Amino acid sequence: MSVRQLSDSPSAPLRDTACPMCGGTQRRSRFQEPPFGVWLCTSCDLTYVSPRMADDDLLQEVYDATYWTSPTPRLRGYRDYLGDGELIAETFRRRLRGLAQHLPQPGTVLDVGCAAGGFLQVMEKAGWQIQGLEPSETMHRVANERLGPERVRAGGMECLKEGELFDLITFWDVLEHLPQPPEALAQAASHLAPGGKILVLTQNVASPFARLLGRRWQHYKHLEHLAHFHRGTLKAAIEGAGFSIETMGPRHTGKLIRLDFLVERSARISPLLERALRPLLRLGNPSFYCNPMDELVAVASRC
Ligand SMILES: [Zn+2]
Repeated sequence: MSVRQLSDSPSAPLRDTACPMCGGTQRRSRFQEPPFGVWLCTSCDLTYVSPRMADDDLLQEVYDATYWTSPTPRLRGYRDYLGDGELIAETFRRRLRGLAQHLPQPGTVLDVGCAAGGFLQVMEKAGWQIQGLEPSETMHRVANERLGPERVRAGGMECLKEGELFDLITFWDVLEHLPQPPEALAQAASHLAPGGKILVLTQNVASPFARLLGRRWQHYKHLEHLAHFHRGTLKAAIEGAGFSIETMGPRHTGKLIRLDFLVERSARISPLLERALRPLLRLGNPSFYCNPMDELVAVASRC
C-alpha cells in the first residue's frame, strides 16, 4: 500500500495557483489545512484551493483506480462507486423528473465526466442519443464496456471535433474538479446545437449547511474540489460563457444514499455523531433520499 493510500497526502508537487475563475491573485484566507489553503478571491468572490497539483498530475494522482474504491472517501473519491450503480441511476431518474420542464426534447446529449455512464444509460432509455467524455482511465474502461466504444471518449472537452453539436451538455459534479471551469463552459457553448442547453450541478459554498459545518463541510476535499461556487459565482461563470440561466437552485440536487454512507460522512461532522448513528447499521443498510440543499443545479441556454 502506498503512502497516499494510508494518509491520502499528495504525492505530486503542489503549486500555488491564482483564482481559476478570473485569474486574480488578491485573496484572503478562509481557512488553512496544510499543505492546502482555502482562499476567497477578492476580485470575483470564488472560493478556491491553493496550492494544488499541476493539471497532468491531477489525472494520474487523484483520479487513479483508487479514486473509485477509495480507502479514504471522506478525503478523496468514492468508497464503492460501481457498487452504488443502482442508487446513482435512481438519483438521476429522480433529478430528471424534477428538471424535465427545463430540458430540451430528446436529441443528442453529451455528459462531460460521465464516469461509468450511469446518467447516459438513464438518458438512452428516455430516448436520447448519448455521448460521454471520461478522462479517468479506470472509469473510461467501464463506460466503454457498458456504452460501447463509439459512445465514450477518453478525455475531456478537447476530444470533441470541430463542428460537433449537441442538444444538451451536462456537467454533473464536474465544474469543481476542473482547473479552468470558464474554459470548459466556453467550449460547451461552442458545441451546443441551436436551441440547446447546458446543465451544471455543483456544490454551494454559501449554503446554510456549508456555513453551519464550516471547514467540516463534506465538500471540502482539497485534492479534488479545486473551486467552490455559490449562486453569484456560478451565475457569473455560466453567463460569462455566453449562456442565459433558466433555472438555478438546490431543490433537485438530492441523492439516494445508504445508511452506511451517512454514518461514514457523519464522522466528518463529529465522531460522537458517528458513534450515535453506527448502531443503526445492525438493523440493516437501507437507502433513502437525502438533500441537505448544499448544491445547486442550473440549466442554461445560449444567449
Ligand atoms: Zn477570482
